[in-house]
Amino acid sequence: MELYLDCAATTKMSRRAIDAMLPYMDEIYGNPSSLYSIGQRAKEALEKARERVAACIGAKAREIYFTSGGSESDNQAIVSAAINGAKKGKKHIVSTAFEHHAVLHTLKKLEKQGYEVTLLPVGSNGIVKVSDVENAIRDDTCLVTIMYANNEIGTIQPIREIGEICRAKGAVFHTDAVQAAGHIPIDVVKDNIDMLSISAHKFHGPRGTGALYVRQGIALNSLIEGGAQERGKRAGTENLAGIMGMTVALEDAVSEIDTVGKSIAESRDRLIAGLRKIPYSSLNGDEKNRLPGNVSFCFEGIEGESLLLMLDDMGISASSGSACTSGSLDPSHVLLAIGRVHEVAHGSLRLTMDRPLTDEELQYTVDSVKSVVERLRSMSPLWHDLEKGKRAHIFKEFEA
Ligand SMILES: *Cc1c(COP(=O)(O)O)cnc(C)c1O
Repeated sequence: MELYLDCAATTKMSRRAIDAMLPYMDEIYGNPSSLYSIGQRAKEALEKARERVAACIGAKAREIYFTSGGSESDNQAIVSAAINGAKKGKKHIVSTAFEHHAVLHTLKKLEKQGYEVTLLPVGSNGIVKVSDVENAIRDDTCLVTIMYANNEIGTIQPIREIGEICRAKGAVFHTDAVQAAGHIPIDVVKDNIDMLSISAHKFHGPRGTGALYVRQGIALNSLIEGGAQERGKRAGTENLAGIMGMTVALEDAVSEIDTVGKSIAESRDRLIAGLRKIPYSSLNGDEKNRLPGNVSFCFEGIEGESLLLMLDDMGISASSGSACTSGSLDPSHVLLAIGRVHEVAHGSLRLTMDRPLTDEELQYTVDSVKSVVERLRSMSPLWHDLEKGKRAHIFKEFEA
């Protein structure tokens, strides 16, 4: 059996997204900035796409800027809010310890430039406390950046309440919604969001295409200088084919949230129930308040990388956490942020789905993980110590 269970890393493009792109790589190849008709046809499609993307998140067309993806959108939102905050003497930023590296590394860079960053802790349930956000905001806070849903453990944050507090206290609120867009409903107006990042390849669009929403009235600076594209805020000839693919993929994904999304969540819950029967395992993050397609576990006494390689041999593509950190020996900063100790954080597994699994696929997945965990434990000196009582278990034998 071949099962791709790493949809938080990237997704396969939908046929409809590919078909929507093709004309813009073929007959409608004009540059949207050109005045002749083939350029103007491209320009019309571009502006229509802006309206369509905006409609998917409750925004206005002029509040959408097309970018090269989630990382660029995060960088631009954060750097821009920081520069504009500094102009008013505000150089404090609030974020969390479990953001994506596109956010955390940008904040690190700003710290070196004299900004002060407060990284809020996240509870063991993987959810930021609204009161922590409220208490952290100061008179000199220019930006609060907190992700909509976490990419490793799938937990959904109380964005609407956080947005309300930021609005009341006069801090710009940015959210990295790369994992949320197309998977759970987003309304930038009701959610009190000032800036929001999305990325096409997380919802069956093309890699290398994204968007940044910036509420009207919020200042935006450009990261990339050059031509006057994107109303002077993002230079470079537009990736129109990518933008068309993203637009169709986002519309399709949003239209399926209430239907397919529900069925995916049922598969998620069955997968969680099955994996919990493996002794000394523990679900990462809140059980209910999580993305429909995210299952994340830690298993005591194993090493995540070997688990992944062995699952790959069984036809299952999975991840230990984030694709961006694999290859490094440090355990995931997300798992450490929710209080997992190093030795269990190393034994993590993330399974992320973009469709409901069949009974057979669910059974196959649970059986495969169970047998691989057993095999790895039988070879692990650490596990033998646990068995002989030389070390104490960290998890209960059965969690629930
Ligand atoms: C994937 C991801 C990103 C990066 O998006 P790219 O389009 O790959 O640059 C940023 N934030 C989160 C939460 C992500 O999951």
